[in-house]
Amino acid sequence: MNSKEFEDRLLGVGFPKKDVYGSLSIPVYHALAYEFETAEEMENAFCGITQKHTYSRVTNPTVQYFEERVKAVTNAFGVTALNSGMAAISNAFFTLAWSGSNIIASRYLFGNTYSFFVNTLTSFGVEIRFCDLTNPEEVSSNIDENTCALFVEVITNPQMEVSDLKVLSRVAHDKNVPLVADTTIVSFSAFNAADLGVDIDLISSTKYISGGGTSLGGLIIDYGNFNWEHSYKLKQYTSLSQSAFHFKLRKEIHRNLGAYMTPEVAYMQSLGLETLNIRYERVSKNCLELAKLLQNLSGVVSVNYTGLLNNPFYEVSKKQFGEFPGAMLTFDLESKERCYGFMRKLNLIKRATNLFDNISLIIHPASTIYGTYTLEQKALMGIKETTLRLSVGLESVDALYNDIKEALL
Ligand SMILES: *Cc1c(COP(=O)(O)O)cnc(C)c1O
Repeated sequence: MNSKEFEDRLLGVGFPKKDVYGSLSIPVYHALAYEFETAEEMENAFCGITQKHTYSRVTNPTVQYFEERVKAVTNAFGVTALNSGMAAISNAFFTLAWSGSNIIASRYLFGNTYSFFVNTLTSFGVEIRFCDLTNPEEVSSNIDENTCALFVEVITNPQMEVSDLKVLSRVAHDKNVPLVADTTIVSFSAFNAADLGVDIDLISSTKYISGGGTSLGGLIIDYGNFNWEHSYKLKQYTSLSQSAFHFKLRKEIHRNLGAYMTPEVAYMQSLGLETLNIRYERVSKNCLELAKLLQNLSGVVSVNYTGLLNNPFYEVSKKQFGEFPGAMLTFDLESKERCYGFMRKLNLIKRATNLFDNISLIIHPASTIYGTYTLEQKALMGIKETTLRLSVGLESVDALYNDIKEALL
């Protein structure tokens, strides 16, 4: 997808109804409930005969417009917007999993996804089978008739591992299992997950899409390619919709869990989408340039960014995501004390969690995101005391480099 196509498709999405004032942007519909002329109309809307808004936990015009825009740029079958990335992940797995089923995943997971899998889902009888996703034989041998999904994060955070998605999708599809990916780290303006075999795409829109740390949000993107006849749980819905997953999610799970995106957030994130492509290009380019400079800076022990030629995942990263694999890098200093001293001295780069704000952000993952995990768990998850994670913003590379250089002295 070239950049022109992205903006053209996005900006071409019209409003479903002409606004009475001719508003150029979608109004924020704070409406909670929607009025009907007759009882018959109400029945039809509530029973799904007509597609009308009834209640804003289920659908809302502003949120739906945001979903339509995402659909237009991803060519998806169905898009559901939720109020955080974790809501997207939990809604998706409550749709896919059943008691007695298992999920195949790497131990290199976003902290709350790890906790959701290991603490929340296991208490409902779902087994998590951890394996090395860069080893197709190991993945394949872990899949059985109760596997509900193969789950992968496209660039793991903060280990920066990249699996070959085409290989993983082949392994999954050979065994009739869907490939579910968290693609938060690489914007969908830069790569096409469906082309690489991803069936269900989960995104924290809090990150790039929000437009710069404006709001929490999450997306479930269903590309409509998986045959749900193969799912023990979802096959019963295949006669009702082209995607049994989307059907179950929209008719049951998302209504029952009640984590739909709010209209204010949908408005902000619709605006965020308009500049997504240009912001992503700028911050990723900044990140690559900075990664190269940091490699030669004294005091920096190592730099981890998959856009660097000497990175072990360079080839697979380039094949899948192109020249600019996102705006997150990590680097190691000699010790934890050195990391803390360095962080204290930074001026331009802010000490904060979150990723892909317009402002550059730094965090020491081992003591924060993974602060309550045991040393043994951290070792298994590849979390080191010497690693710092940097999310690169829109500032100039010169200014960022100088801030880092000064803080290392
Ligand atoms: C931030 C993040 C999430 C969770 O998103 P929230 O919007 O904070 O709930 C999930 N996966 C990845 C890779 C993330 O970076």
